[in-house]
Amino acid sequence: MENPEESVLTRSIVRVALDTPLRRLFDYLPARDSVHAPQPGVRVRVPFGKQRLVGVVQSLAASSDLPIEKLKPLLEVLDEEPVFDPGVMELLEFASHYYHHPLGEVMSAALPKLAREGAPARARVERWYATEAGLAALAGDELKRARKQRALLEALRDEPGLSGDALAEKFDDWRTPMRALVARDFTSSAEAPVVSATPEQPLLRGTGPALSPEQASAVTAIDGAAGRFAPFLLHGITGSGKTEVYLHAVEHALRRARRALVLVPEIGLTPQLVGRFRERFGVPVAVLHSGLTDAERLAAWRECVSGSARIVLGTRSAVFAPVADLGIVIVDEEHDASFKQHESGFRYSARDLAVLRAQRAQVPIVLGSATPALESLQNVAAGKFTRLSLPRRAGQALPPRAAVIDLREHAVRAGIATPAVEAMQRHLSSDGQVLVYINRRGYSPTLACTACGWIAPCRDCDARLTVHLAAQRLRCHHCGADAPLPAKCPQCGYAVRHVGQGTERVEETLAALFPDKPIARLDRDVVRKRGDLESVVSRVASGEARILVGTQMVTKGHDFPNVTLVVVLNADQGLFSTDFRAPERVAQTVVQVAGRAGRGEKPGEVLIQTEYPEHPLLRSLLEEGYDGFARTALEERAAAGWPPFAHVVALRASATTLEAATSFLRAARGLFRSPRGLKLLGPAPAAMARRAGRYHAQLLLEAGERAPLHRALDAWLPQVESLKTPRDLRWSLDVDPLDLF
Ligand code: ADP
Ligand code: ZN
Ligand code: ZN
Repeated sequence: MENPEESVLTRSIVRVALDTPLRRLFDYLPARDSVHAPQPGVRVRVPFGKQRLVGVVQSLAASSDLPIEKLKPLLEVLDEEPVFDPGVMELLEFASHYYHHPLGEVMSAALPKLAREGAPARARVERWYATEAGLAALAGDELKRARKQRALLEALRDEPGLSGDALAEKFDDWRTPMRALVARDFTSSAEAPVVSATPEQPLLRGTGPALSPEQASAVTAIDGAAGRFAPFLLHGITGSGKTEVYLHAVEHALRRARRALVLVPEIGLTPQLVGRFRERFGVPVAVLHSGLTDAERLAAWRECVSGSARIVLGTRSAVFAPVADLGIVIVDEEHDASFKQHESGFRYSARDLAVLRAQRAQVPIVLGSATPALESLQNVAAGKFTRLSLPRRAGQALPPRAAVIDLREHAVRAGIATPAVEAMQRHLSSDGQVLVYINRRGYSPTLACTACGWIAPCRDCDARLTVHLAAQRLRCHHCGADAPLPAKCPQCGYAVRHVGQGTERVEETLAALFPDKPIARLDRDVVRKRGDLESVVSRVASGEARILVGTQMVTKGHDFPNVTLVVVLNADQGLFSTDFRAPERVAQTVVQVAGRAGRGEKPGEVLIQTEYPEHPLLRSLLEEGYDGFARTALEERAAAGWPPFAHVVALRASATTLEAATSFLRAARGLFRSPRGLKLLGPAPAAMARRAGRYHAQLLLEAGERAPLHRALDAWLPQVESLKTPRDLRWSLDVDPLDLF
């Protein structure tokens, strides 16, 4: 056995993960005046070239590849306690390997911005004290003439450790006399952690409805797995009471003095869900999402670090939140694409990492959805996940009836077919609310000339500009280009017309059809700042708005008990996409939006407008529901060798010419030593090759087995990195990509 004391002393090289694109760690010596080397998981400030960077200690080592005299000492150790406990450290290292991304960048993605810059992990205040000399001066008459200094010193004598805030309450100006006192060594200050004086809270503040037998057996199964890793897929139709199951599972974990981590999709973190947790539990709940300011994010993260938060509720990156004594992990709407970071930097799936985190922590995890990802259903089929079903709606609600409207057979006004209008009339006049879903925002997706055939294109993308009529703008939804709306064709001077519909136009049409029914709209143009979403949701929830028109945003998380009719205006986009995941997404959206109907006591009705009523996907969905669809879709995936029956990695590149992007990918392909059973597809231009003035292409790697694929990537990536590339070329690796564009 080694002596632990000694091993710390001998292993005095500090390996630090730094936020740089280099796939390596950096060695440092302990800070000059330090007694011990810092523990793994602690943040440190280090010299790096001419910069000073904040990094995280990954490990301590006995030796370095560099000669010791070349190593520089740490400048500062920022934390007394690790900000990443060993469990989270392991998760981060796993993520770095699995996603082939530098550990330093992975760690930096796991920290709020201010923490990344070195902000203290625990809230601190400066406290003031009188020194011995100060007390002696008070006793003497040294300060007789300095009235303000004297008063300040007396206050500190009577109440040592007053904070700046406390002093500000007692004195108009305390800083000036304090400066004088400090200069004379009569006072000193020290930073101390804030001790929150929150009184002991009751665990439960409210109670929920009595659980249905299905809910109760789900809760029993989850609770029975306490203390070990057990992944559950909670498959329950919308309104079946999944949230109620989460609340009970969390309660059981809290009773065992554990903490809960609850992940929700970006848009699913509705005030309603947060409200339900806060209404149910008396213990502190920390909420982490991207809508917070940097300071708020830091504050929420600090509640996690200090352990004061017993429940941590957050979006994607909250999977890395420092939650000690974890007792349960929950991922709500586990199929949601926002759990995958795919845009920039470190691309990871928070859902998949959550499963791993639960495994490391040996706790149960509940993945909940009305429309589980095909991957998750396959995990159930393979015996890896246990399925818990909530087949019925909670309370009184009945499942909605669904039907298609064949757009080829009916008169259509501005995208809405006559039978849909009639149904709306019926539901509105019997006091129901109506939800109209369309997956496009703006007024119309196309502006066209009535004479010469000109169509307003985006200058920088292979896309058309969308008309935003109220704002009188033409906007590109891919690159953000924004121009005034022309009144005439810029090419020939004739009149222009708006072709097709978006939410704005549907709202206008509905206002003309139902002039006395207030309408609410929900899309990204309406929800621009904080509070916008809440105000639309509350207009609908209160019943003030009778019709709600919206995009994807309406499909998530809201409970509108009075919506009795849902109309899906165009299910057709996506039925014919080149992306193998497109059908899954259409099915999920249709089922999710349909689930908004009839959540209360009245039965719901769902109408889906389509030009392809015979499409096999729509048919399986309507005839057999999501399960039937999923069965068909999984069979197709198995036959075609797509995930979850294969593992896919995309190498993507973009440049100012298509040739530069593809020739890089071709060179990369040339370097790949392909093990048996591995397929390379491409390089091929992306479906929308030109976006924001850059051309995108991709190379796909596909393998039946994960391990050989990852080994091949380990050998390949350093070579790809050393390829000479034009300056404008950017590339990235996406493991388990969600979009194959
Ligand atoms: P989901 O998360 O599956 O959409 P929720 O948990 O939000 O479902 O439940 C839908 C509605 O049914 C909520 O208003 C909830 O309070 C109610 N509910 C849930 N479980 C029960 C139950 N066992 N008895 C009565 N009402 C319930
Ligand atoms: Zn024209
Ligand atoms: Zn554009």
